[in-house]
Amino acid sequence: MDQKHRLIYYPDSILRKKTEDIEDITPSFVKFIDKMKQICSEKKGLGIAAPQVNESLSVFVSPMTGTHIKTKDPLYAKDIKDWSVFINPRITKYSKEAVGYEEGCLSLPKLYHTVFRPRSIEVSYLDIELKRHTKVLSHWFARLFLHEYDHLQGILFTDYILGKISNGFDQQNDLEDKMRISQALTAFEKM
Ligand SMILES: [Zn+2]
Repeated sequence: MDQKHRLIYYPDSILRKKTEDIEDITPSFVKFIDKMKQICSEKKGLGIAAPQVNESLSVFVSPMTGTHIKTKDPLYAKDIKDWSVFINPRITKYSKEAVGYEEGCLSLPKLYHTVFRPRSIEVSYLDIELKRHTKVLSHWFARLFLHEYDHLQGILFTDYILGKISNGFDQQNDLEDKMRISQALTAFEKM
């Protein structure tokens, strides 16, 4: 069967690679998208990016349906066909206002911490028919998009907490927070 496409955990190096844009939709790509959805659904994730399923491609999927994109509280799509697919995503505007909320990641199981991110963003992406969409996302959906978009750049949410990267907002972590996160990462590295 498909040995390559499985959930990838930190510290696998593919999670640190910048992904390639998608040029066309092939049958094997469509199959890969289904595999991403299947893994994300099995793990009850709210989104998954291609590097987390072992492909360095610029795409992520989410069980959130398009019609729910503007709502504050996300709704989980029951049918896998209703999932949103974000191909070659771009972020064109960031709000200056930050909001902090707890995040986790399927590639870093059971690790959660608050990350401060822009409250709203303007984004552009292609769907599975290569149709371009431009949207303003806020609240929960902006966070999801930013987290998954980061995966496509080789960035993990823990990078903000440890101060390895900055999004311009104060992450408000003390030494104790940083210690806890770096100890958790070291434990993953030893597994
Ligand atoms: Zn993640």
